[in-house]
Amino acid sequence: MNDIERIRERVARACRVLGRLDLTKAAMGHVSARIPGRDTLLIRARGPGELGVRYTEAEQIVEVDLDGNLTQENDAGLNSPIEVFIHTEIYRKRPDVYSVIHIHPPTVVLFTVCDKPLLPLYGAFDPASLQLVLDGIPTYERSVLIDSPQLGREVAGVIADKRVCLMRGHGITTAAPSVEEAALAAIHINELATMNYQAYLLGHPRPISREDQAAFRTLERAPVSHDGEPPTGRPGALWRYYCELTEA
Ligand SMILES: [Zn+2]
Repeated sequence: MNDIERIRERVARACRVLGRLDLTKAAMGHVSARIPGRDTLLIRARGPGELGVRYTEAEQIVEVDLDGNLTQENDAGLNSPIEVFIHTEIYRKRPDVYSVIHIHPPTVVLFTVCDKPLLPLYGAFDPASLQLVLDGIPTYERSVLIDSPQLGREVAGVIADKRVCLMRGHGITTAAPSVEEAALAAIHINELATMNYQAYLLGHPRPISREDQAAFRTLERAPVSHDGEPPTGRPGALWRYYCELTEA
């Protein structure tokens, strides 16, 4: 298997994991990966032969350039997704990013609908998802399809140097140094939203103390992967867990 085929498999697997965790609705959503050394990316395609996100196979991953156009025709009628510009414009702006994921997780979207903030409700329970909220989670305020480079640039401007942004009445976008870390960021934001949702139902959620928030801000972070390679250490182990759990 050459490098590009391997990346194609990793993109398809991330789709299956996120789909099987019910982080998106049916066919909605796409995972992409930058091909190192090229101005192109691999992305989950849309088309007559496609299956839902949770059933994505490597054959449904196409290569597109930074204008969102296919680099080669295919017989299966596959094309880049309408919202490919979320991906292309973030790759243009962020050389550190090797993977972008855009999905529609219902629990997270509810927070944008109701204007409820995601609060730092826990600490040692799940430091990785806490760190996302401590870093700040921006929201893109429009709910339209991101179907042009101009709208893609707006989303890229909102996510800025962060790993996650919310999109009001729409979904989320994550951007990370590898496919696996981008998928984990989506899982973490969903975990944070699920806990917040349940806490709001139960009563009056109370953030952890400023002192404890500060302790997690200065906690050493897991090292990030380089050139899009899969992560090692804690994120690598966590990703293996989710692959096993979902049998992806
Ligand atoms: Zn969307």
